Amino acid sequence: MTVTHMEAEGKQVLQQLLDAGYEGYFVGGYVRDIVAGKEVKDIDIATSATPEQVMSIFERTVPTGLQHGTVTVLCDTFQFEVTTFRTESSYIHHRRPEKVEFVTNLHEDLKRRDFTMNAMAMDIEGKIIDPFHGHDDLQCGIIRCVGNAIERLEEDALRMVRCVRFAANFGLHIEEETWNAILEKKSLLQHIAMERIQIELQKMMTGRDPFQGIWLLKESGLLHYTKRPITLFADALEHITMEHQHHVNALPLHNSISRWCNLFTLLGMNAEEASTCLRHLCFSNQHVYDTKQSIQCVHFLSELNDHWSEEEALYQWREAVLLYGKDVVQRVLDLFSLDKHIREEIDTVPSIYPLSSDVIYFFASHGQRCMDDMKVYTVKDLQLSGTDLLPLHPERGSWIREVLHQLMKEVSHGQLANERDVLMSRAKSIIPELT
Ligand code: ATP
Ligand code: MG
Repeated sequence: MTVTHMEAEGKQVLQQLLDAGYEGYFVGGYVRDIVAGKEVKDIDIATSATPEQVMSIFERTVPTGLQHGTVTVLCDTFQFEVTTFRTESSYIHHRRPEKVEFVTNLHEDLKRRDFTMNAMAMDIEGKIIDPFHGHDDLQCGIIRCVGNAIERLEEDALRMVRCVRFAANFGLHIEEETWNAILEKKSLLQHIAMERIQIELQKMMTGRDPFQGIWLLKESGLLHYTKRPITLFADALEHITMEHQHHVNALPLHNSISRWCNLFTLLGMNAEEASTCLRHLCFSNQHVYDTKQSIQCVHFLSELNDHWSEEEALYQWREAVLLYGKDVVQRVLDLFSLDKHIREEIDTVPSIYPLSSDVIYFFASHGQRCMDDMKVYTVKDLQLSGTDLLPLHPERGSWIREVLHQLMKEVSHGQLANERDVLMSRAKSIIPELT
């Protein structure tokens, strides 16, 4: 389904609102993305109709966020969030209010939005309503608060991180008054839930220029003021330099684990420190685990002796596959290949990994083949199971796991064939060593 199809259905929603005697506009991110020539993800609609009225006009609706005035309207293929024009007058503790006031005027609704580029609307004819000149700002490459920047950031301190995120994702310069307001009001970030900060940082890290965002976070010092401290991370940011940008930005847009892994690595943070930071930022357990594993795997590979031989390096690589699994090692391989590529292109760029460039080049060139050639990756790949081993010893116990592990290692390093008889006889010789 194409965007035009989504727009056609969105216009039907507007038409139905108009037919029922209300106002209806496309607003927010959709209008901004159209004006900026960006890919459109979804369409938000604002209306003068109250949520109850919206629910009576449309057949299929979901009361998604009634206290904020939002009803989801389900169409044939797409769904649209339809929100009643509103203001957000009473901000408590510098965050968005739980309750809002409905108004009948589009202008009032646009006025409470964060940045000029997010405060545009579009009518059913495609005419842009832009009272705060968001279009001009976008064209000049500027992001700016709607109205008085200090007041807007005092109302909702998350806007400071959103500002950094939008600047990075759209390649914009933060307008002076807005930037100065961020510097003045940055300590208010302590009132903002870590989950909301995480969402913005994640959008930044999967955007087109995460390094610009990181740079702005460093320059503003914003991350020193989070509700749960991420001090090590905020302190480490002080040391980044422009040379580091390639290692974060050159990775594919949605490869967020790799981008986070490289960011922590270039900041000199180890796996424990990185996972504490990500946990404080309320990232999912999976995200924390994957990032931690990748950083640990890099460090494991760096344990290779300074006077390494090719044979030792390949051995260490296969050990890494057994310890961390194929997916993690594949990610590290991609990171090393990128590092090799970056430094071939620009020879002044330093590597960010604690390994010599010779080793990185070697892994980047031979790692894939080495991994593909392995006969087993886990004990499950062995042509023999724990049950097969039971008759070999009168007691059950941890020895089974140890024997299987030893067999897996020897097969993976090509020291043993993955054949049942061979494995059985090798197991028999290992068991006495264990007991
Ligand atoms: P994206 O969907 O790409 O993350 P977006 O601008 O659509 O960007 P949302 O968080 O979906 O961001 O918000 C939709 C709109 O709501 C914004 O364009 C903006 O007009 C308004 N908005 C969102 N968050 C705030 C906020 N903290 N303060 C003021 N207005 C906001
Ligand atoms: Mg949106």
